[in-house]
Amino acid sequence: MGLLKKTNGQNGSQLVRRVVQFLFFIIVCYIGFRFAEFADQLAKGILPVTDRPPGVEMFLPISALVSLKYFALTGIINGIHPSGFIIFLIICATALVARKGFCSWVCPFGLLSEHLLKIHYLIFKSGFKLGALPDKVLRSIKYLLLFFFIWTIFFKMPADSIERFINSPYNILADIKMLKFFTQISMTAFLVILGLIILSVVIPNFWCRYLCPYGALLGMLSLLSMGRINHNSSECSDCGQCEKACPGLIKIRQSKSYHSLECSACLRCVNVCPEKEALKFSFFKSRFSLGSIGVGLIFIIMFSFGISMAKMTGHWENKISKKAYFFYMMTQGMMEKIEFDPAQTQKQKTERMKQMMEIMRGKETKSQ
Ligand code: SF4
Ligand code: SF4
Repeated sequence: MGLLKKTNGQNGSQLVRRVVQFLFFIIVCYIGFRFAEFADQLAKGILPVTDRPPGVEMFLPISALVSLKYFALTGIINGIHPSGFIIFLIICATALVARKGFCSWVCPFGLLSEHLLKIHYLIFKSGFKLGALPDKVLRSIKYLLLFFFIWTIFFKMPADSIERFINSPYNILADIKMLKFFTQISMTAFLVILGLIILSVVIPNFWCRYLCPYGALLGMLSLLSMGRINHNSSECSDCGQCEKACPGLIKIRQSKSYHSLECSACLRCVNVCPEKEALKFSFFKSRFSLGSIGVGLIFIIMFSFGISMAKMTGHWENKISKKAYFFYMMTQGMMEKIEFDPAQTQKQKTERMKQMMEIMRGKETKSQ
């Protein structure tokens, strides 16, 4: 009976999380695909006919941290990567409501990590766990990385260089450079990524648990989270299923209202618990359980609301024109060598060069 309950609960509730995870994954893929189209046209020396999709900056957390400092100093949301800053704020806000739930409900790397975990269990039937000491030592890496970024940006970066960095061609083209990093990956980068994937297969959640500074930040913010796992020891039969299922390796039974830095609100523990009242994910110590639909809705509503507000107030799309992108790509040497079609006549080639010069002149006139 216990097993039946466990299986039913796990399938039902984890299915909701999977649906939300895939929904966000499809949105990320769509944005990535449209952005690749935009960047590809620029790289070929063509003024893009498609628009740059805002939101691609969700993968520029350092730029978002710089934007945060700029906002703290000036009260202004910078117009270069505004959506990156907005998404960063939304993600931090979700940590105050549903802990590190971003990692297990939204983040595509979290989704990848979970699939690598499945491979892990195919290879190591009963799973492989690091000892407590190496686990603690390795977990400190992500906090050190987070500390390094915060220290460098908030304490070492002079205030007057913030605006210069934000408006620099380096920051303006950071998203295109990031895309190029993956599409034209160097052998070294490829080997590093491959190493991380192998490590994540051997050691469960290696990237998320030990290296991701975003996860470290969310974990720290989650100490203030309203949502938490509440354990009711009087209803608990002490079977230990919850702790076995927990990807955060949290000792759930040791506290009534658990405040772990590692809880990603995945609800696996709640789903496997055979006792109806023993475990709940709820706000503070409330008896009202949020359940998987409740937690999923938190993410959908918070992202939709935050993005809608940013659109309404003009802080979603950036203020860089396509001609300006063209100009920066050319001056930064990021355009491919222009290959002329051998079938083109000299007149057509000259015409093409003239068009490019026109675009450049257009940008220069605009910026004068
Ligand atoms: S299994 Fe439970 S305690 Fe562990 S991370 Fe998921 S929600 Fe948090
Ligand atoms: S909380 Fe539930 S799953 Fe965890 S030990 Fe108690 S009864 Fe078992």
